[in-house]
Amino acid sequence: MSAPVRHYVGGGFDTSGDPFPLVDPVTGRTVGEVPSAPVEVVDRAVRAAREALRGPWGTWSPADRARALHRIADGIERRFEEFVVAECADTGKPRELAAGVDIPRAIANFRAYADLLAGRSEQSWHTATPDGRGALNYTVRKPLGVVAVISPWNLPLLLLTWKVAPALAMGNTVVAKPSELTPGTACLLAEVTAEAELPAGVFNLVHGPGADAAGQWLTEHPGVDAIAFTGESGTGTTIMRAAAARLAPVSFELGGKNAGLVFADADLDRAVAGTLRSAFTHSGQVCLCTERLYVERSVFDAFAERLADGTRALGGYGPMISAAHRDKVLGHLAKAAADGEVLAGGGVPSFGDERDGGFHVEPTVLRGLPEDHPTVREEIFGPVVHLAPFDTEAEALALANAGPYGLAATVWTDDLARAHRVAPALEVGIAWVNTWNLRDLRTPFGGVKASGIGREGGDHSLDFFSEPMNVCVKL
Ligand code: NAD
Repeated sequence: MSAPVRHYVGGGFDTSGDPFPLVDPVTGRTVGEVPSAPVEVVDRAVRAAREALRGPWGTWSPADRARALHRIADGIERRFEEFVVAECADTGKPRELAAGVDIPRAIANFRAYADLLAGRSEQSWHTATPDGRGALNYTVRKPLGVVAVISPWNLPLLLLTWKVAPALAMGNTVVAKPSELTPGTACLLAEVTAEAELPAGVFNLVHGPGADAAGQWLTEHPGVDAIAFTGESGTGTTIMRAAAARLAPVSFELGGKNAGLVFADADLDRAVAGTLRSAFTHSGQVCLCTERLYVERSVFDAFAERLADGTRALGGYGPMISAAHRDKVLGHLAKAAADGEVLAGGGVPSFGDERDGGFHVEPTVLRGLPEDHPTVREEIFGPVVHLAPFDTEAEALALANAGPYGLAATVWTDDLARAHRVAPALEVGIAWVNTWNLRDLRTPFGGVKASGIGREGGDHSLDFFSEPMNVCVKL
């Protein structure tokens, strides 16, 4: 059984609420339970966060807060192995992913925002006045207040801390609600914030589902001043409606249906290896994963064959997060097999051990589906990539830019001019050329169209989590 899942409210742990089962996606077995926070607990968490704004936290200087963020990073480092075990237990992802990406990135999130905060300055102006004495205008940055952070199950700690760190950096207090499917690392984070001597109520944690539960109650709570959310685009619409009622600002990182473009002039070895990563990392359950790949016709067959070979050779991959999600992915694969061609994968693997009770899906390469097919248009969020040919650069761009989403794209080309022509013309928030998911935490991160509202990363996050105020002093 995994460690007990507990809410963390006003500096105290709490297990109130009806429990629901926590399932190991590797085996399908129930391994614990999650208490579903009642309204009363959500309300208490928001009140504790409000109260903490008025306490010592409100007097901490940016340097004090930066030091606190480093202490949290130190705390995660000290308990690194516990975090890795909890991350793998919740998500079923391979250990090397959790230990190589998720937990180090959570540490880096706190350190990056601590360092950015320490080096941050605000604008000031000397303004001319008719009497010749002038005025001094300067900007004061204030926290928004109580911030709700709602995060998904695919990169539970990475995405939670990506919002919590800048929110705390700017002096806000937080009520976090992680996905009900992956509560483990958030519980450890709560313990670490206490060990890092954050005052009670600065970081609070409530568990439970979204609709008609903790998530919804948090977004509708009049005491929540802003909402930072990562998840499905449809959930974003629901949350925005709740926020609109009281004009609360939102920062949204939403779904995607990311395209890749492979030009004939690309280094095909690099493009194949890069696509195996971009399509199948964490079994395709990364918002940035490539689900549509357009390949220039002259190299299409060769590329498709090599990608299919590489895909069949993949091993050691993790499961879908839940039975429901596996069934959704398999539904897409059934439609795709009927209407197109399966080049690799397409089914459920058989391991001959306890993993056969889990939610695995084979890494899958498809071709031959029309562009308006649901499998090509809708986000699958699984290990599935569809290949289609193109003839011209203009056609490639039109194909990539079609559809409701605009999160990320990859371009594979060795033509420098083409790279600089095509990448900025993509209707996405992030375009990678000859790489995928290479991140610098200072860069803007987010999507256009149905993939998000606002940008995270660097100063973009620090700006979102604060209100600039103008002070004008007549000299
Ligand atoms: P989801 O929208 O179902 O849930 C995300 C979170 O919102 C969970 O904590 C959930 O409990 C909560 N929630 C659900 N309904 C709610 C409601 N009515 N009110 C308040 N909260 C509610 O998404 P998911 O299935 O957990 O995650 C997968 C989705 O997240 C995919 O669409 C993926 O593309 C997206 N995602 C986007 C990014 C990005 O950076 N753009 C990153 C990771 C995942």
